[in-house]
Amino acid sequence: MRRVKKFIFMACMLLVILVALNNKNYNFSGRAMNNISKNDTDKIPIFTFHRLVPEDVKREKYPNNQWVGSIDAFSKMMKYLYENDYETITTEEFYEWYIGKREYSKKTVLITFDDGFYEDYYLALPILKKYNFKATSFLVGSRIAGITRPYDKNKTGYIGLDVINEVRESYPNMQFQSHSYNMHYYVKKRTHRIKTMSQKELRQDAIRNKQFGFTTMAYPYGDYNKKVKKVLKEEGYLMAFRFAPYGYATRKSDRFAIPRIKLNDKANVDTLKKWLNY
Ligand SMILES: [Zn+2]
Repeated sequence: MRRVKKFIFMACMLLVILVALNNKNYNFSGRAMNNISKNDTDKIPIFTFHRLVPEDVKREKYPNNQWVGSIDAFSKMMKYLYENDYETITTEEFYEWYIGKREYSKKTVLITFDDGFYEDYYLALPILKKYNFKATSFLVGSRIAGITRPYDKNKTGYIGLDVINEVRESYPNMQFQSHSYNMHYYVKKRTHRIKTMSQKELRQDAIRNKQFGFTTMAYPYGDYNKKVKKVLKEEGYLMAFRFAPYGYATRKSDRFAIPRIKLNDKANVDTLKKWLNY
C-alpha cells in the first residue's frame, strides 16, 4: 500500500514538472497569441531619416539644412543597432504587430526614410544589406521616373520605377511605400498642399499612388486631417504615419496617424540610445 502511494506521489510530481517545462517552452517560443510574455514590447520606435549625403557634401552644400544628414552618421547608428541585437521590421510587419497578430521584443525598431531621394538606394541600401536590416522608403509618386539617374553626389535625384522593381526582387527587406502622389509642396508660405485639397482630390491622389503597390502612407510634413484619414481607410490603405507628437508607436496609436520619431542632421548614436532605453 505504501509503495502504491509513493508511486502515485512520484507520478504526480513528474506530471507537475512536465507541465512546468512545457509551459516554459511555450513562453520561450514566445509569439503565441494571448500569451504575451513580459519580454514583448508594447511600443516600437519608428525612426525617420530624410536625405542622407556624404559628409563632404553635407558640409559644403547643406550645412544649415537640418533635413539633410550624413550617411556616415547613419552608418554608425545602424552599426550600433546591429551590435546591440536590435531587430528591424517593415511597415507591414509593424501593422501585424499593431493588430496583435505577432509580438516583438523590446529590441525592435522600424527604420524609415522620407521623400524618395536616390541616396536611399545608392548609399543607405548597401549599409542595410551589410546588416541584413529591413527598412521602408516613402516615395512621392509624381517624382517616380521610369529610370533612376546614375548617382552623382552633386546632383539631386529620386528613386525610379526600375529601382523599385529591382529591389523588390533582389532585397525585399527594403520596402517602398507612399509619401502621397503629389501632396509634397506648399501652396503658399506655411500652407501645405493637403490643407487645400477636397475629398475628391485626396481620393485621386490615394488611388494614383496605389499603382506602385503601396499599402501604407507617410503624410508629407506629417500633416493630416480627418478627410485624408477617411479616404485612405476607404481606399484600402493599411495605416498611415505622422510625426507630432514625437514619441513611440503603440497599439493604441491612431491607425491613420501613427507617430514617428524624426531624426535630423544632429542625430547620432546617443540620440538613438535615448529613444531605445525605455
Ligand atoms: Zn517629406
